[in-house]
Amino acid sequence: MGKLVNRPEPDLTIQSYLPETWNGMKRVSRHFFVNLFTKKGYVTKQYPEERFPYAPRYRGMHRLMRREDGSVRCVACFLCATACPADCIHIEAGESDNRDVEKYPVVFEVDHSKCIFCGFCEEACPSDAIRLDSGEHRVPAYTREGELTGKVDLLSRGALSVSRQGGRFK
Ligand code: SF4
Ligand code: SF4
Repeated sequence: MGKLVNRPEPDLTIQSYLPETWNGMKRVSRHFFVNLFTKKGYVTKQYPEERFPYAPRYRGMHRLMRREDGSVRCVACFLCATACPADCIHIEAGESDNRDVEKYPVVFEVDHSKCIFCGFCEEACPSDAIRLDSGEHRVPAYTREGELTGKVDLLSRGALSVSRQGGRFK
């Protein structure tokens, strides 16, 4: 059963709201001047110059990994695009000059307006070609086309993979 709370009889002081208005103004003014002259309790960050540190498990933008000769590790197998629940990976395959590698991606695009950063593409990849460990925050764009990240940008974030073909790490 709930507890009964006695309500005070509304006298002229309560009905005028003046004491509570004064208390509110005092509190707001105190925060205003404390934040103006000190940084105590100052939570606003001047983004993008100042940023909160990301958690160690934060993934970030995709990157495409390279082989020792600098070529892209991706073999255009479409497993990442098939696993992607947001249907945001677009690949166009071409025939590779390397006899050991059947195909390579002529076009490899990730639509970041749809991506939910789930990491399924990374897990599906059999050759450690795509990763979400760059730690870079997605830069917002003004157009849908601006949300597409192509092969050149994905490769520019990439690095030499330490895995052997087939996804096994050394
Ligand atoms: S992180 Fe998820 S949603 Fe984004 S491209 Fe990879 S599989 Fe698709
Ligand atoms: S799963 Fe890996 S190798 Fe296959 S298309 Fe995607 S990135 Fe390329």
